[in-house]
Amino acid sequence: TLSILIVGCKSAKTDTPTSSITILDPQIEAILQKLTIEEKAGQLNLIPMPDLPTEVQLKQIREGKIGSILKSNGTAQNLRLQKIAVEESKSGIPILFQEDVIHGYKTIAPIPLAEAASWDMEAIRKSAAVAAREASASGIHLTYAPMVDVARDPRWGRILETAGEDPYLSSKASFARVKGFQESGQHSFQNVLGCVKHFAGYGASLAGRDYNIQDFSERELRETYLPSFQAAIDAGVASLMCAYSAYDGVPLTANTFLMQDVLRGEMGYKGLVMTDWATINNLVSTGIAENGEIATTMALKNGIDMDMSSYKYVALIPKLVKEGKITMTQVDNAVRQVLMLKKKAGLFDNPYAYFDAEREKNELLSAQNKAETKDIALKSMVLLKNENVLPISNAIKKIAIIGPFAKAKRDLLGWWECKGNADDVTSIYDGLKAEFGDKIEFTYAQGCEIDSFKVAGEKFIPEAIETAKKADMVIMVLGEEFWMSGEGGGTASLHLPSAQEKLIAEIAKTNKPIVSVIVSGRPYVLTQIAQNSNAVLQAWMPGTMGGEAVAEILSGKFNPSGKLPVTFPFHEGQVPIFYNYRKTSHSFESGPKNNRYSTTHRDVQNKPLYPFGFGLSYTTYHYSDIELSSATMTKNGSLQATIKVTNTGKVVGREIVQLYLHDEVCSVTRPLKELKDFTILDLEPGQTKTATFNITPDKLEFIGIDYKKTIEPGKFTLFIGRNSDDLKKIGFEVVN
Ligand code: BGC
Repeated sequence: TLSILIVGCKSAKTDTPTSSITILDPQIEAILQKLTIEEKAGQLNLIPMPDLPTEVQLKQIREGKIGSILKSNGTAQNLRLQKIAVEESKSGIPILFQEDVIHGYKTIAPIPLAEAASWDMEAIRKSAAVAAREASASGIHLTYAPMVDVARDPRWGRILETAGEDPYLSSKASFARVKGFQESGQHSFQNVLGCVKHFAGYGASLAGRDYNIQDFSERELRETYLPSFQAAIDAGVASLMCAYSAYDGVPLTANTFLMQDVLRGEMGYKGLVMTDWATINNLVSTGIAENGEIATTMALKNGIDMDMSSYKYVALIPKLVKEGKITMTQVDNAVRQVLMLKKKAGLFDNPYAYFDAEREKNELLSAQNKAETKDIALKSMVLLKNENVLPISNAIKKIAIIGPFAKAKRDLLGWWECKGNADDVTSIYDGLKAEFGDKIEFTYAQGCEIDSFKVAGEKFIPEAIETAKKADMVIMVLGEEFWMSGEGGGTASLHLPSAQEKLIAEIAKTNKPIVSVIVSGRPYVLTQIAQNSNAVLQAWMPGTMGGEAVAEILSGKFNPSGKLPVTFPFHEGQVPIFYNYRKTSHSFESGPKNNRYSTTHRDVQNKPLYPFGFGLSYTTYHYSDIELSSATMTKNGSLQATIKVTNTGKVVGREIVQLYLHDEVCSVTRPLKELKDFTILDLEPGQTKTATFNITPDKLEFIGIDYKKTIEPGKFTLFIGRNSDDLKKIGFEVVN
């Protein structure tokens, strides 16, 4: 059959997959030598553990058939299982405990998309370090993070785990997260190993339906989807997860081009590769392999070292080796990777170092962890609109807090809440009450219920109108429930669920000033919400400290500085919409009235509601004097670009200054502009600072006609400004 043919032809190329381990480690070789083939297969086996492990599972640990565990039930259970592995199994090899510590372990940080809106890589690194300290103190050795997929379709629920639509910003966040997870503590047991995922292109799931097909060009792969993985590799990430998805029709688990030629070969990745959940089984369900044995053979020959949850490696590898379908060398290479990870985690020095009840007690939800988490929550929120109603003035004495998320706690944690607990969260309502004390009287009305399947709960609207009428100002807390974004959280509609648009339309009729706070894991189409609001704050799913952070922003204690890492559409039919699209044959500018033959929709504007990089502040900034150190640059030279930024308002502010480039004439169509650098300026009122950027050759590179990185001489345009749609520009020329 075809699948056998594929294995046949692939095996010629991959009999011994491009081995990533070039220098053998004597300690690991000594362990490896003593293992039976069953124990070797066991080391490659990563499985979930129920709250109450069965006798069969405990026996498997004793027999050395479980190398790693995910989704287990916390410290006490992990310690118990570790003791069995170390003290009762023949090999005595410790278990590697793994977990989805995506944005915090117990103190939950804002979702990764929100963190990217801070553009503050030090804050992002620190946030990953908080997660690493807490998780490692609770017996976790490895986290399935950072997730570095680039996502351009807000219908896809997993956009919340990404750093948004841009490869450059995603790469910066990817690097910072790996460093935060892996290198913040002095000892291995104060860190967690990273696992960058999902290699590669999963973010392009068609129509935003999770696990759907993806189809994009090799150029797109290299330009958009690979850089954030390269950044994680450059940061020294310890492991990598391959995606559920397929590239060019071949699922990643069996895709030798991507997993070997590109990842191991070109990108120089040397660490462990694991499957995503049971993706070896998926080779059968996608019709790539006829049965589990063929699927297992394909995966192992493709250099997939660890099998998450399909139980195929542990069950079939001994048989496949015996039958000569796979070689012992192939198995050994994979086992070496697992043992290397365990060594990196320090498990051969002390398998119990991660289980320190005292450290765990002091670490989880510590004052420092909460403070650092609040810091990034503050920096991640984006002020989208403000008609002088924020910060809340002293004249306001009575505020109605209205909306289904005003008292929400669990929803603030978002998807992948790990061990986060709603009881540790301050709601936005409670946060505001605490922030203003008795200076302001707060009233509350729920406004509507959330039911994503029908427009429900309008019965609360009349009560909300009455509450609004009696107040000086209304704060609407709108958004989505935690389960509506995240894995499997695809949505067709990008309007806020249920009756929320109806609710705000009714409240707006009271003519009270309205501040809308949006709790969501994705960009929603906020067009109608913005029209009915005097101010809009995108609060995302802000985590444990979200309620306090929203309150400090609305009171003016913290001046918002976040900028969007993803475009907010004006209309859902525009999706996918992102700022760095390539030039087309016809213009984007003219609408159908002026010019029918343009790259536009007939019925809506081309511009999004809020562009990539957009975000307001309580102060204003003036940009002037964009300059270059020279009008020309050689291909291996450099240039300096500068611009002056003045704080023209009355309060201290933090401005994220963005630099974009465009190559005017090229052998390949280029995006109209691409983010290539940014810097953060803290400015006192009236103060002017100069933002300085070095234009180095890597910023001019693109994926050339031959799919290799190249620089072509000629005219470039350089843009600097506040967001991708508000930029000053200057030209220069690249010469040979
Ligand atoms: C997800 C991964 C996750 C894994 C383990 C999968 O379904 O795609 O991102 O790490 O489950 O929970």
